[in-house]
Amino acid sequence: MRMKATLDELLCSVELLEGDTAVLDVIKKHISDQTQTQKSAFFVADLGAIIWQQIRLKSHMDQVRPFYDVKCNSSAVVVEILAALGTGFVCSSKHELELVKSFGVPAQDVILGGACKQLSLIKYAAKHGVRLLVCDNEAEMRKIARCHPNAKLLLQVYTAGCCDHEETAMPFGCTLKDCRHLLECAKELGLNVTGVKFHVPSCCAEPEAFSHAVSDARCVFDMGAELGFAMSILDIGGGFDGVEAQLEKVNRALKPMLDVYFPQSTGVSVIAEPGAYYVSAAFSLAVSIISKKMAAQDAKHHAHDTLPGNDEPEFTYFLNDGVFGSFAYKLLEESVPVPSLLKEISAEEPLFSSSLWGSSNDGLDQVLESCLLPELSVGDWLVFNHTGANSLGVMGEPTPPVHYIISAQDWYEIQNYGITLDTALKNFSLVPCFQKPSLSESAISTPA
Ligand SMILES: *Cc1c(COP(=O)(O)O)cnc(C)c1O
Repeated sequence: MRMKATLDELLCSVELLEGDTAVLDVIKKHISDQTQTQKSAFFVADLGAIIWQQIRLKSHMDQVRPFYDVKCNSSAVVVEILAALGTGFVCSSKHELELVKSFGVPAQDVILGGACKQLSLIKYAAKHGVRLLVCDNEAEMRKIARCHPNAKLLLQVYTAGCCDHEETAMPFGCTLKDCRHLLECAKELGLNVTGVKFHVPSCCAEPEAFSHAVSDARCVFDMGAELGFAMSILDIGGGFDGVEAQLEKVNRALKPMLDVYFPQSTGVSVIAEPGAYYVSAAFSLAVSIISKKMAAQDAKHHAHDTLPGNDEPEFTYFLNDGVFGSFAYKLLEESVPVPSLLKEISAEEPLFSSSLWGSSNDGLDQVLESCLLPELSVGDWLVFNHTGANSLGVMGEPTPPVHYIISAQDWYEIQNYGITLDTALKNFSLVPCFQKPSLSESAISTPA
């Protein structure tokens, strides 16, 4: 097989992993490439994992066309891969619209998401032919009527019964009652309402939430029809966590509902806006410990909750990345997974209660409140898996470098699914990866 792309058109080099080289081997290589003093955080992203998610989505929900929500991870490589795989995109900023456009995605495959948009953004969408706009309130509708009269609106309907933190739930989506008013308003303004969108956040992505939302959407389609709108798009939003079992479960609830309320004979296209689904598992983040504190547990708790005389120490570690950087997803109430360690630990090594912090001196900057870890040293590395969603450049902090890889096996196997990346990806250059380090070299952490 020929590998496309020459060095001068190189935008991004993707390492091709041969044999049984694993992500962890790549992380170890990049750590040993860093100078002793540098020790900067970095990501390794497995493009094969993104492609497999597309193959899985197609096999489980063939009737649903995915539009990737770019806000979840706007790295250009992710956008290029997904554009090559033929997904549509949901953008919520000018930067995201420009990015997607730069990979030749046609304007009709782009949705301008976000229920509240700045006027300049609506105008930009109008100028570039992006007509699908999400909307859930009258003020927004009036703005759109003024600056983008040819827009095709997706009315975002509130998904009820979602989450245990209902009182703090985001005020996005309109109720069924508001919908009638908004449809009338759109009619008065001469706007076209082309469909309904709902979004079940991943924290409450129970199959029942999807079935309720589909029947609510049917009501809105019927109201729309009464007012003369020919609605043709049902957007089921995102909220897929990336685990195949959840996809199956949701599909089992969704499919019969779609068959009843939106059978193919209605001509309604069903689309989804998965974000985390594609990228979460593909990215791993390597961070190192830059500082450390130890406290005796009984001193801290004043013997409360602890047996007297328990002097097990507790450790606080400070990392070279934090909640205002790559762990920003923690602010979305998502839990941070317990990291794996790069240094080899014997089974007898005692474990201590430990907490992990960024280095900002801010009380919000706690990455992990409590986990059991062996005693670690400054300079040791930790690897967090499943870090592709809401982690890159979210808070405006510079993003750690990302090293992209794909395994040779994935590269060959995906061709059986009709995906040939060497012609689809213009900006990639595949470089062969190093040989897997032998076992004796692979233990990286040596005490300073
Ligand atoms: C972020 C977002 C999505 C994508 O959500 P995921 O959980 O990443 O799939 C979809 N719709 C809306 C309205 C969003 O805000």
